[in-house]
Amino acid sequence: MADFSLNEDQIQIQKWVHDFADKVIRPAAHEWDEREEFPYPVVQEAAKIGLYGWEFLMNTFADPSGLTLPVAIEELFWGDAGIGMAIMGSALAAAGINGNGTPEQVMEWVPQCYGDADKVQLGAFCVSEPDAGSDVSSLRTRAVYDEANDEWVINGTKAWITNGGIADVHVVVAAVDPELKGRGQASFVVPPGTKGLSQGQKYLKHGIRASHTAEVVLDDVRVPASCLLGGKEKLDAKLARARERGHSGEKQPAMATFEATRPSVGAQALGIARAAYEYALEYAKERHAFGRPIIMNQAIAFKLANMAVEIDASRLLIWRAAWLARNGGFTSGEGSMSKYKASEVAVWVTEEAMQILGGYGYTREYPVERWHRDAKIHTIFEGTSEIQQLVIARAISGLRIE
Ligand SMILES: Cc1cc2nc3c(=O)[nH]c(=O)nc-3n(C[C@H](O)[C@H](O)[C@H](O)COP(=O)(O)OP(=O)(O)OC[C@H]3O[C@@H](n4cnc5c(N)ncnc54)[C@H](O)[C@@H]3O)c2cc1C
Repeated sequence: MADFSLNEDQIQIQKWVHDFADKVIRPAAHEWDEREEFPYPVVQEAAKIGLYGWEFLMNTFADPSGLTLPVAIEELFWGDAGIGMAIMGSALAAAGINGNGTPEQVMEWVPQCYGDADKVQLGAFCVSEPDAGSDVSSLRTRAVYDEANDEWVINGTKAWITNGGIADVHVVVAAVDPELKGRGQASFVVPPGTKGLSQGQKYLKHGIRASHTAEVVLDDVRVPASCLLGGKEKLDAKLARARERGHSGEKQPAMATFEATRPSVGAQALGIARAAYEYALEYAKERHAFGRPIIMNQAIAFKLANMAVEIDASRLLIWRAAWLARNGGFTSGEGSMSKYKASEVAVWVTEEAMQILGGYGYTREYPVERWHRDAKIHTIFEGTSEIQQLVIARAISGLRIE
C-alpha cells in the first residue's frame, strides 16, 4: 500500500534543498536567465553541499518509497527551473547508464557525470535528432562494430541535447541494426575528450535559459567495446531475439530511461507551478484595486483556489507514479499521467499568476513571466503532451493507437 507521509530523512532533505533554493538559487535566477549561460558557480555551490553529486542521486534512486527524488526536485525547481535543470541535467545521463549498464559500468561512469566540488563535471543524454524527436525509433545515428580493434564507430548528429558538447560524459543512443527500428538500438558512453565528438549550434531558448542546449556532432567517434552499455553479449542476444520474433519484448533503451524519469520531470513542472502560485497568492493579498485587496474579488480568489487544487492533484499523481516505479511498476501509463498533468498545470498556473499580477506580471522585473517561459518546456521535452496521451491511451486500451 502506498503511504505518502514523508519520513524524517525525506523531510530533512526537503528542508535542505528548499533552503539552498531560497538562499542561493533564487537570488541568482534572474542573472543567469538574462546571461543565457550555464551557471557553473551555482552548480559548484550545489556540489559543495552534496546536492550536485552522484552519491545524492544514487541515494535517491535507492529510496524504496521513490518519493525522495520528486520531493527534492520540486524544491529545486521552486528555486529556479533554468538553474534547476543545470543541476539535474546530468541525472538523465546517469539514469541512462544506471538503467542500461552493468554494475561495473555504473560505478565507472556515473561518478564521472558529476566530478566533485573542485572540478564539476557534466553528463549529457543524447537521443533526439533533427529528424527524430518524438519518433525515437527512427534514429539515424549509427554505431558499427569494428571487430579488428574491438571498438564501436559512431556517426550522426544529435539535436537539442541538454549539456550537449559541454558535458564530460555523453551517453549516446544509436542504431546498431536500423531495420529493427527501436529494438535495434543500443546506448554507448562516449568518455571525456573522445576525438570526433563536438558541439554544433547552441540553441537560444524561450525558457530554462540557464540550461545549456546544443547539437552534438559525432564524426567517426571511436569508443572501446567496454563503452557499450550492458555489454555485447547481451546486445547480441537481444538482437537475435528481435530478428527471430520480429520484436524482442524488451524496451528500447531510450524509452526505458524516459519512462523511469517521467515522475521527476513532472516534479520539475510542479516546483515552477508552486512558485508562481505562492507568489500570486501573496501579491493578491497585498495589491489593492477599487479600495480592497484584489483577492477579495471571487474572480481572483477562485483562480487561486483552482491553482491550489491543480497543484495538489499534480503532486498526488507524481508521488503515486514515483511510488509505483519502485513498487510494482506502471500499469495504466501512470508515469505519463503524472508528467502530462503537471506540465499542463504548470503552463496554466504560471499564466494565471501573470494575469493576477496584471501589468507587473508581464515585465521582467517580476519573476512570473520567467516562470511562464520556463514552464512551457515541460509540455515538450521528455515526451510531448501528445506523446504522453498516446502512452496513456495505449496503456488503458491495450490497443496500438496511432
Ligand atoms: C530545451 C530542450 C532540452 C532537451 N534536452 C534533451 C536531451 O537532453 N536529450 C535528448 O535526447 N533530447 C532532448 N530534447 C529533445 C526533446 O525531447 C524533443 O524536442 C521532443 O521529444 C519532441 O521532439 P521534436 O522536437 O522532434 O518534435 P516532433 O516529434 O517533431 O513533434 C512535433 C509535434 O508533433 C506532435 N506529434 C509527433 N508525433 C505525434 C504522434 N504520433 N501523435 C500525436 N502528436 C504527435 C508532437 O507532440 C509535437 O506537438 C530537448 C529539447 C529541448 C527543447
